[in-house]
Amino acid sequence: MARSPHADQTSGSFHAEVLRRRLLTPTGAPGAYSFSAEFEDTVSRVDRAVTAAGAADGPEVMRFPPIIARQHLIRSRYLESFPQLAGWVHSFSGDDRAHRTLLSTIEADGDWSAALTATDVVLTPAACYPVYPQLTGTLPAGGRLVDVMSFCFRHEPSADLGRMQMFRMHEFVRLSEPAAVIEWRDTWLDRSQRLMGVLGLEVQPAVASDPFFGRGGKLLAANQRDDRRKIELCVAVDGDGPTAIASLNAHQDRFGQLFDIRTPGGQPAHSACVGFGLERIALAIYRHLGFDRSAWLTRTREVLGL
Ligand code: ZN
Repeated sequence: MARSPHADQTSGSFHAEVLRRRLLTPTGAPGAYSFSAEFEDTVSRVDRAVTAAGAADGPEVMRFPPIIARQHLIRSRYLESFPQLAGWVHSFSGDDRAHRTLLSTIEADGDWSAALTATDVVLTPAACYPVYPQLTGTLPAGGRLVDVMSFCFRHEPSADLGRMQMFRMHEFVRLSEPAAVIEWRDTWLDRSQRLMGVLGLEVQPAVASDPFFGRGGKLLAANQRDDRRKIELCVAVDGDGPTAIASLNAHQDRFGQLFDIRTPGGQPAHSACVGFGLERIALAIYRHLGFDRSAWLTRTREVLGL
């Protein structure tokens, strides 16, 4: 790959420069930023490039707010694997007296959290989660393919610019018979690497595992790696180590079972998804091609319409 004059920015200088140029501005909560007009424009262009990469397959487009019904998160068994990452939405539903107690407890810097109760919604943990409850029932012949993009929440406060608590993820989700799903996943393994290459990012696919919680989680992670069910495309984003900017996930019949999604033959559907972290990809382009968008590689500027 042709190296841009900025290609060897160190991690520390990149981080400082992103903030100095106000591409990202801290908001007071770790991992939550205000995005500048230019950064937002770059993210939108990356989003459109992802859409274009999958357009030939004619996916159905679904969009959701960044919340899902609490019952659906419970049904997905997310809390068994990732309780530490989930974002429950709580609110106040007490009377005047409870309200006065809440305010005086806050005033006294006490623990006011008991005054709040869980609402019917939780923050979306991954863009594909709202899709499965929509598909309960029998798939049409050939299965379904969905294009979905959403802000997602992960409770992992960090100073790493590439590890936001809320970020956008653009996914394609395929549900069908096992062989068709794996063939589709393998098509995207090739396609996603080519897309990242056009964006100037030299990624290497690596077998990976999700951050399953607790001691039991170690076994789940080992099984996931052994079956090569999760493959990540990684590149340096903020820190010097590799950060995943895209991932390909084969779920076998997990979501088919959990949400009663069946093939025309009556079997639980298999599913897979490919997800692109839009802010991470945008940051990685600045990291590897420099801060002057007009000096980015010709092929990168072409695919982004710059
Ligand atoms: Zn997914």
